[in-house]
Amino acid sequence: MNLPKFRLSPNAYALDLFVAESGICSCCGQARELKYNSSFYSLETPDYLCPWCIADGSAAQRYEGEFNDYLGIEGVSSDLAESDSIAIERELLQEVCSRTPSYHSWQQEQWLVHCNQPCAFVGYTDYAEIQTLQAELQGDIAGMPERYLQAISKTGDPVGGYLFRCMECGRHRLHTDCT
Ligand SMILES: [Zn+2]
Ligand SMILES: [Zn+2]
Repeated sequence: MNLPKFRLSPNAYALDLFVAESGICSCCGQARELKYNSSFYSLETPDYLCPWCIADGSAAQRYEGEFNDYLGIEGVSSDLAESDSIAIERELLQEVCSRTPSYHSWQQEQWLVHCNQPCAFVGYTDYAEIQTLQAELQGDIAGMPERYLQAISKTGDPVGGYLFRCMECGRHRLHTDCT
């Protein structure tokens, strides 16, 4: 069976966002082999979520939950007046929150934007990869001490690096955090 694709997390299955585990999906009730293994913010915590129920929005709807925090999307503010003025279409913000797997991070995950739309999460990154993308990432790494940049690793220890790519122009962007 072909796994559903996530437009904003194209490498989801190559990362640690799902684990191979047989079970019954709490949302659709189907026997599945792949279990979601990252954040889901909801009142009731489902035991098992399958990729299909994330991709089609049914898990988010059923549990009234979010995989990614709305306020964690770059530029989105809890101030209603400001939210109304952000240029990103609401439907795209919903796609991040309701139909896109989260990723593992130390702090509350952030979702970067570029060209007035949410970027795709490419994966975890490290100093070596950041070096090769230096020109594109200049705006994101400006002001970061060299020692901090060197500490960025794909395992997130001691500093997590999260690489995004613009859906429109292809430019990479970087988010980092640590404990
Ligand atoms: Zn399911
Ligand atoms: Zn762009």
